[in-house]
Amino acid sequence: MAAGQVTDKTAAVIGSGFGGLAAAIRLQSAGVQTVLYEARDKPGGRAYVYHDDGYTFDAGPTVVTAPHTLEELFELSDRKLEDYIELMEVAPMYRLIWSDGDRFDYTRDADKMIEQIRQRSEKDAEGYQKFFKYSEKVFDKGYTDLVDRPFLRFSDMLKVTPDLMKLRAERSVYKTVSKYVKDEHLRQAMSFHSLLVGGNPFQTSSIYTLIHYLERQWGVYFPRGGTHALVRALVKLFEELGGEIRLNSPVKQARLIHDNKQHEIIDGNGQQQIFDIVVSNADIHHTYDRIYGEHKVAKKRAKKLEKMDWSMSLFVLHFGTDIEYKDVAHHTILFGPRYKGLLDEIFKGTKLPEDFSLYLHVPTVTDPKLAPEGCSAGYVLAPVPHLGRADVDWETIAEDYADKIIKALEVELPDLSKHIVTRRHFTPKMFESELVAYKGSAFSVAPKLTQSAYFRPHNKDKKIPGLYFVGAGTHPGAGLPGVINSAKATVRLAMSDLTQQ
Ligand SMILES: Cc1cc2nc3c(=O)[nH]c(=O)nc-3n(C[C@H](O)[C@H](O)[C@H](O)COP(=O)(O)OP(=O)(O)OC[C@H]3O[C@@H](n4cnc5c(N)ncnc54)[C@H](O)[C@@H]3O)c2cc1C
Repeated sequence: MAAGQVTDKTAAVIGSGFGGLAAAIRLQSAGVQTVLYEARDKPGGRAYVYHDDGYTFDAGPTVVTAPHTLEELFELSDRKLEDYIELMEVAPMYRLIWSDGDRFDYTRDADKMIEQIRQRSEKDAEGYQKFFKYSEKVFDKGYTDLVDRPFLRFSDMLKVTPDLMKLRAERSVYKTVSKYVKDEHLRQAMSFHSLLVGGNPFQTSSIYTLIHYLERQWGVYFPRGGTHALVRALVKLFEELGGEIRLNSPVKQARLIHDNKQHEIIDGNGQQQIFDIVVSNADIHHTYDRIYGEHKVAKKRAKKLEKMDWSMSLFVLHFGTDIEYKDVAHHTILFGPRYKGLLDEIFKGTKLPEDFSLYLHVPTVTDPKLAPEGCSAGYVLAPVPHLGRADVDWETIAEDYADKIIKALEVELPDLSKHIVTRRHFTPKMFESELVAYKGSAFSVAPKLTQSAYFRPHNKDKKIPGLYFVGAGTHPGAGLPGVINSAKATVRLAMSDLTQQ
């Protein structure tokens, strides 16, 4: 048995999102007998999958970054990721298109990036290079030093505060970018990334500019077979290690027993089982309010969470076409005519904005097998206010809203409305009902400085012994690198506690 391993302990992981899967693999690799409970019929959480009429539609994450975080999960048991899944690099990383027809290919190739910027402004080309250096520094502090480290004590926060202040972490992403480049489209091109983890570029800490460096450094990937093929690879690994996954098994209740030393889990099928520790990957509010709701302290935490700022929601439309769209990038951002105004309405407003900015995903340009031969599969998402902000009757308006989006996509996918043969959508209401996401938020607690690191819900509860968290609602936050790193931070804590018992 390797140092730090235990073999007589048991763990329940609630939820099989990327964070839950990563935690379950880490625990099982360390010898802890782990059961992974999943409420739905398939694993993956937000990375669920639909198979409609020969088309494969990934439900959530499509931009896979920081591949080493995934490789590590396999290396824990001397395996190799490439024996389970192929990650294909995507280039350009994103194509950006504005409503006035302006275009920009956001690439990993520094020369190509700088050349495109230089064509707009010599000064911005210089500014961009300075911005890149800044984002590298932020990456060194904000990612390398902090991302897989839990922040349980205020003193942990104090230790990193001088560095964060030096980097002006209190400034927003957009404000920071604006210091370096003047062209408004370039400012948008360098600042939209925080939206990918649920953060408004005008409110999210400049720490999130590290995404720029991270993508340039390590690239953007797409798994052959789609993101869910990666989920299946992780499940396979977990099962090979001896772990057990229980689908269609929503955890209804968990309670402390045996002098608070163990947790009894009761699932929706009426099964009960006792575990030494629980790692919850379910929505953090749901975990405190419902699963641990019989504990006074949990109810108190749920109330506190209700006062926090929650990320926006999304309207997601999946579509399959009877022709193949080849002349399109894998990832495209279609900026609407408004940037700040639209984001203000999404993050601070009380109704659904009339206009939208869109993220378009056409995976068949990388992996044609995701659709029948000669056809394309795609999805498009529009950031929208969460349910706590805007009281939208999604069931009534969804089809019309989808039609409006399809029309807008025709600038990039000509005659799309005539070629769609199958489609489905996912609304904020469905985030709430199917993923038990508080307020239908797509990315959990918003990634603001005042809700990050020590100020974010902790990876381990202080008062409920043996309860840990993993995933978007805890440190460091949403996005695949975030939730996979959260598993590293959380399992390190759990193993340290278990080996001391
Ligand atoms: C549409 C969309 C696109 C995105 N695109 C990207 C992207 O391209 N790149 C990127 O890095 N990130 C992206 N993100 C963000 C990223 O997908 C998420 O932050 C991440 O996948 C969340 O993982 P998680 O570990 O928090 O778990 P989740 O995916 O939230 O999964 C939680 C799981 O818990 C289960 N559960 C809940 N309650 C219970 C219960 N009581 N019992 C048992 N199970 C329960 C749920 O069914 C679910 O399976 C996207 C998100 C969305 C919604």
